[in-house]
Amino acid sequence: MTIFQRIIDGEIPADKVFEDEEVLAFRDIQPQAPTHILVIPKKPIVSVAHADSGDQAVLGRLLLVAAEVARQEGLSEHGYRLVTNIGRGGGQRFDLLHVHVLGGRQMVWPPG
Ligand code: AMP
Repeated sequence: MTIFQRIIDGEIPADKVFEDEEVLAFRDIQPQAPTHILVIPKKPIVSVAHADSGDQAVLGRLLLVAAEVARQEGLSEHGYRLVTNIGRGGGQRFDLLHVHVLGGRQMVWPPG
């Protein structure tokens, strides 16, 4: 079971900023920017690469919640970055789909 599943189940505490039946958002424990929030589905989807057409609604919801959380955090005006890592080569360490919301500093390109 992933750490994120344990957070969903309430076994591990998290600094939650949003929760509904489908989606949970909480602050990253090792922030890579002044604001760093993870948005995850409660349905156990490993990554975007593992999603199918039945996941279309929840994938859309993740992005909308990410944008709403960014608004709440005051990131919208300056801009921010959404990232979802896929597989070990893509930098994914936890096998439950998560969208990183990163903001509060100037983002650079290319990312590391
Ligand atoms: P990734 O490398 O894309 O799989 O992202 C995993 C993220 O989860 C990293 O940014 C970690 O800092 C974060 N993380 C790991 N454990 C926790 C935790 N218990 N609470 C909040 N964030 C966590």
